Amino acid sequence: MDLQLRDKVAVVTGGSVGIGLAVARGLAAEGVHLVLAARDADRLLAVTDQIKTDFGVRVTSVAADVSTVEGVDRIAGAVDGGVDILINNAGTGSEETILEAPDARWQAYWDLHVMAAVRLARALAPGMRSRGGGVILHNASICATQPLGYEPIYNVTKAALVMFSKCLANELIGDNIRVNAVNPGLVRTPDWEKTARQLTAGTGQTVEDYLQKIADDNAPIGRFADPAEIADLFVYLSSPRASYIVGSTTYIDGGWLNVTT
Ligand code: NDP
Repeated sequence: MDLQLRDKVAVVTGGSVGIGLAVARGLAAEGVHLVLAARDADRLLAVTDQIKTDFGVRVTSVAADVSTVEGVDRIAGAVDGGVDILINNAGTGSEETILEAPDARWQAYWDLHVMAAVRLARALAPGMRSRGGGVILHNASICATQPLGYEPIYNVTKAALVMFSKCLANELIGDNIRVNAVNPGLVRTPDWEKTARQLTAGTGQTVEDYLQKIADDNAPIGRFADPAEIADLFVYLSSPRASYIVGSTTYIDGGWLNVTT
């Protein structure tokens, strides 16, 4: 299938590692030029150089915290002539109880998971409109629908992101801008490996055994996804070949979701 993505321009937030990096590489492999954003400038520069070498596309890296107004302004400022695709991917898990978490913690996750998407839509959608259309994708989580007990703030803010995605889709489809959300399940990223290393330290359990148990306990497929498996969906949804997919939320979770939606 020709995805018709060559020479499009995409912003990928959190494009330096994990799912975001896999999406960036997947888009680059289709000939998409990239603007990558994350906070750690060194890590970002390293992947920027690697993607340029591997795929020969233009890659601009922007060291920015997407949860802040300044960070979003910096990304918007680095976009020269507008973009065709915005991948709102930056995000992270949480761990708290509702009764003990202070307001500041709720606000920080709201800013990271929701306001970053709001502000980036305001900053970049007008340029998409001028280019005749575009695509905005939100990386939410299965937790937007099926909560994990230890991370209520994550669950709530990802649910809000999915609803934001739906509302934005309705607002922008008249401008030929397609907005959709993706809800991944277990994806084996460095973040999960770090958690596994921390939780197994001194226990005698290996990181592999720990991760396998999580997969066995949750995902009927019995394994984590590789980030590249998630990236393939993002690349397809970014393509004009997905032209009738609007305001949708696609689960990619190895069968973990317990209800049909
Ligand atoms: P990683 O922790 O591996 O990567 C997160 C990326 O986001 C990094 O590039 C990080 O770079 C960047 N980032 C984090 N916070 C900010 C910020 N404030 N401003 C700018 N960039 C930021 O995460 P994953 O790849 O695992 O997850 C990516 C997305 O997918 C997240 O939104 C997550 O919630 C979602 N997801 C992940 C699942 C999984 O199992 N892994 C499952 C379901 C959803 P830096 O630290 O340098 O800023």
